[in-house]
Amino acid sequence: MELLKKMILENGHIINENVLKVDSFINHQVSPSLMKEIGSEFYNYFKDNKITKIITIESSGIAPALMTAINFNVPMVILKKQTSSILNENVYQTNVKSFTKNTTYKLTLSKDYISKEDKILIIDDFLASGEAAKGAIKLIENAGAEVSGIGIIIEKSFQSGRKTLEDQGYRLYSLARIKSLQNNAIEFLD
Ligand code: 5GP
Repeated sequence: MELLKKMILENGHIINENVLKVDSFINHQVSPSLMKEIGSEFYNYFKDNKITKIITIESSGIAPALMTAINFNVPMVILKKQTSSILNENVYQTNVKSFTKNTTYKLTLSKDYISKEDKILIIDDFLASGEAAKGAIKLIENAGAEVSGIGIIIEKSFQSGRKTLEDQGYRLYSLARIKSLQNNAIEFLD
């Protein structure tokens, strides 16, 4: 997606060779025009998959997931990051290791907002090692629902996430694929 690549090159900050900061248009301040285009792009790619719900992870996935949900005209569900276990029969929970914070949180989904008939599109901001996506998949599959696709805004292709998810047979679409952040330069795959 050309607009996204342009914004990454102009406004992205390399924190180190593994982490890119995009706070001015995705993670802290959000660009509505970019999110609108992202929503259309994910819709066009996954529109034949009979998606019934968009699922994302709080908080940076919410803006792109909502724009995607508007295009599909389906609800968006936000997976919560809890710090402790919820002793409640009405939720699915799984542990996820945070890539950027080096902590573990409990990804949480209420049973009220998913059913085994659902075909889910997962949307998230970054793909690194795939832990967040794997956690989301686990909750969705625990509910008996189907993961029909995974849409990522920025994939760091030099990390293991894509391979992990593709090896498990999931359909993955990333809007920007970063080959390298080495030597203080952002290099795209294509
Ligand atoms: P994974 O679970 O795939 O290892 O990491 C994905 C999650 O970690 C994303 O939801 C995102 O919040 C965060 N993340 C991973 N890499 C980066 C990065 O380079 N920059 C930012 N801002 N977040 C990242």
